[in-house]
Amino acid sequence: MDIVFATRNKGKLKEVKKIFSGINVKINSLNDYDKKIDVIEDGKSFEENALKKADGIYQLLKLPVISDDSGLEVEQLNGAPGIYSARYSGENATDKKNNEKLIEELMQFPIPHLAKFVCVAVYNDGINRLIIQGEFKGQIISKPRGKNGFGYDPLFLPDGLDKTSAEIDSGLKNKISHRAKAFSKLKEMLLENKLI
Ligand code: IMP
Repeated sequence: MDIVFATRNKGKLKEVKKIFSGINVKINSLNDYDKKIDVIEDGKSFEENALKKADGIYQLLKLPVISDDSGLEVEQLNGAPGIYSARYSGENATDKKNNEKLIEELMQFPIPHLAKFVCVAVYNDGINRLIIQGEFKGQIISKPRGKNGFGYDPLFLPDGLDKTSAEIDSGLKNKISHRAKAFSKLKEMLLENKLI
């Protein structure tokens, strides 16, 4: 069975393919379809954005779709950067600029800077729609550490570890991350409901 993952992000695709390996499911990404398909992420929550992607791509391709939306929520910043995580530092945001802005914003607050990554994963096949949330808790440190991962990983110290999520290897991150939790649970529910 083919499922379209509503993403063009190669890193995410690799993670999710791994989670769905070993069963009779082939995960494709938007790069496997030549149509110029994209969905505008203008929702007010992770869930709204993930649903927009799943529903929009289903309407275009009429194939079972999985989608996600994710980001970082910092307690002392009342949940920011949240759904704006990718463009926290503005129009021409880069991971480096976003991380610099985060450090600057947190300077006025005492440590620990408690935070969590959140991922909402959605499945839509035109009849069934499943929505699952995964969380990855930790704190933000003031100097980046590590070269693995992406986004805010160099500043994120997961609970119970003394390495940032950019210092741990990708195999471990793929077991404990917000995305791993959301998509593993989604896979479980799809199997339970005999949808895959
Ligand atoms: P999106 O789900 O592609 O919209 O990702 C939103 C943004 O959240 C990314 O561009 C990153 O800045 C941040 N983010 C999401 N997941 C992770 C992660 O696993 N590590 C680090 N940053 C992440």
